[in-house]
Amino acid sequence: MQTSYLMQAYARQPIAFERGDGARLWDTRGREYLDAIAGVAVTSLGHAHPEIAAAIADQASRLIHTSNLFGIDWQEQLGARLCALAGMDRAFFCNSGAEANETALKLARLHARRRGIAQPQVIVMDNSFHGRTFATLAASGNPAVQRGFEPLLPGFLRLPFNDADALQRCADTRADVVAVLLEAVQGEGGVHVADPAYLQQLRTLCDRHGWLLMMDEIQTGLGRTGKWFGFQHGDIVPDVITLAKALGNGVPIGACLARGEAAQLFVPGNHGSTFGGNPLACRVGCCVLSISERENLPQRARQLGERLLAGLQRQLGGLPGVEAIRGHGLMIAIELAQPCAGMVERALRTEDLLINVTRERIIRLLPALICTPAQIDQMIERLARLVTQWSNGHVASQAVDVVEAEPVCK
Ligand SMILES: *Cc1c(COP(=O)(O)O)cnc(C)c1O
Repeated sequence: MQTSYLMQAYARQPIAFERGDGARLWDTRGREYLDAIAGVAVTSLGHAHPEIAAAIADQASRLIHTSNLFGIDWQEQLGARLCALAGMDRAFFCNSGAEANETALKLARLHARRRGIAQPQVIVMDNSFHGRTFATLAASGNPAVQRGFEPLLPGFLRLPFNDADALQRCADTRADVVAVLLEAVQGEGGVHVADPAYLQQLRTLCDRHGWLLMMDEIQTGLGRTGKWFGFQHGDIVPDVITLAKALGNGVPIGACLARGEAAQLFVPGNHGSTFGGNPLACRVGCCVLSISERENLPQRARQLGERLLAGLQRQLGGLPGVEAIRGHGLMIAIELAQPCAGMVERALRTEDLLINVTRERIIRLLPALICTPAQIDQMIERLARLVTQWSNGHVASQAVDVVEAEPVCK
């Protein structure tokens, strides 16, 4: 029998939350949880931040929307502040990560026209994630995202991530490349960090061949990796960056920032968004930046990330079935040897803990940057129990496999 009128696009847990405070959440029955995913890297300042709530209420009582037919002071302010932080020249505002990447990909097409390249290619990476719209799903390196939606948009060249030789070969053999789009840390792909040397090689090749270096900072941006932006770990500056997730702490907003020639490509009529950059979303974005600067949240993410990673390594390193524990700031992965179906539900039920599993066997943690050290320690304690129990089951199932395999050998 149909119990919901929502399209079945998500595999949801049978829990709904009613209220939050920082890294804590309460469900509709009043049970308290610890949140180690922050709405998938969105609520970096925690739930129900009082300053954000006040900014929303105040702006809503003044003006929410007037359209981009008119000047919007909060949009100008947010654009200026983001450009100053990221070393960019101009911003375009939209409402989501996928739209921010669409904007970047449209810039790459205009860049191609200028260079007289009729069939331009954008280099993208294996194992990447850039969104669910037609252009961004074609750019994503995950067949599960693409399946059923063919024919895919052409114009993407896929390379292995962090592979310097593959990049060099592309530069040596192709004249139709106009841009490279990649994540500073592959998030949905399971927390794989771009090597600083690879980013530097990318910058050099982009300069030499006139490619736009476009970095998807939607998950990594605004302090999560321990710096304001993930690309800063490589000591480079891209030509284009995209932001969304944490920029509104839950209020939908996305941004595409660009510098140099790339910042001048759009002219009136090229691109637009009805809701994009409205006074409410941009005021919240400014509020997020003010709090992040005042509390030095990038540094806090680095310190808390080191604490979380070290604790997990101490408690879980070397356990059977635990293949790797890695992280970059407050993006942390526990990679298991086998799929861990039911892990998210068990974490909720037995540990009152919100976690995420990506690629079927990688536990991903994205806690709010405002977590207390005590909350980080609680996460370590709860994850240690959860993963140790999984590991014991993993060992038992391996033993069963061996016994079952025996008759075949005789
Ligand atoms: C979440 C995410 C996106 C897509 O953002 P939406 O707001 O869901 O469209 C794109 N790129 C990366 C790296 C992401 O993490």
